[in-house]
Amino acid sequence: MRKTFIAGNWKMNMTASEGRAFAAELTAGNLDKGVKILIAPPFTTLQAVAEVVKDTNILLGAQNMSDSESGAHTGEISPAMLKEIGVDAVIIGHSERRIIYKEDDSFINRKVKLALKHGFEVIFCVGETLEERESGNVENVVRSQLVGGLQDISTRELQSVTIAYEPVWAIGTGKTASPEDADDVHAFIRTEIEKLYDIKAADAVIIQYGGSVKAENVKALMSKPNIDGALVGGASLKFETFSPIVNYNK
Ligand code: PEP
Repeated sequence: MRKTFIAGNWKMNMTASEGRAFAAELTAGNLDKGVKILIAPPFTTLQAVAEVVKDTNILLGAQNMSDSESGAHTGEISPAMLKEIGVDAVIIGHSERRIIYKEDDSFINRKVKLALKHGFEVIFCVGETLEERESGNVENVVRSQLVGGLQDISTRELQSVTIAYEPVWAIGTGKTASPEDADDVHAFIRTEIEKLYDIKAADAVIIQYGGSVKAENVKALMSKPNIDGALVGGASLKFETFSPIVNYNK
């Protein structure tokens, strides 16, 4: 039985003081205890939020991490820096990182390996652009992102990996994949995981959907057999919009 996992990606929003106040609102709010919840503030807000969510059931995520342990990497953040703050998980391979900052599969794979080596959970993002969808390439794109990003990740390590399927054309656009279309890709991802690993790993892997998830569509998405949770951007920034997503089943 896979546990529902709802994660909020705050992106480049929330200063430390804003993040602290919002995290306090979330911890005090009536959020479904049966749901695994994670919030991912920007780096400079992590420490303030860590102090609030410590010893609560809300996990702390980082939105990115260096592919190197330490050293001459101006502007980067190392795994040890995130560990010391109390970060539980790292989002890797988000389409904004892939597209705007030109992160490729082998770079992403180095980050996934390093994050797992340091005991972080990983939310590993995959998904196609509109052009790739319209040219009938969804499966090829998603397959190569999975193969590239998960290279040399063992079956045991995969237990700490959540896959987020995020069609790029649905992120921040208000357009959502239909529950049926999203579920088809999730089923495809599960089959690919079975080929790369085994049936047990495929049954166990949590696959989140991401792309304009909101209160109005979360129930229909979550009713699908292969959709186990959501990675939420815009709607994760306010209690009134995030809590109904977490509490979709209440
Ligand atoms: C995201 O950033 O991962 C995302 C899905 O954003 P939004 O919910 O705003 O589409």
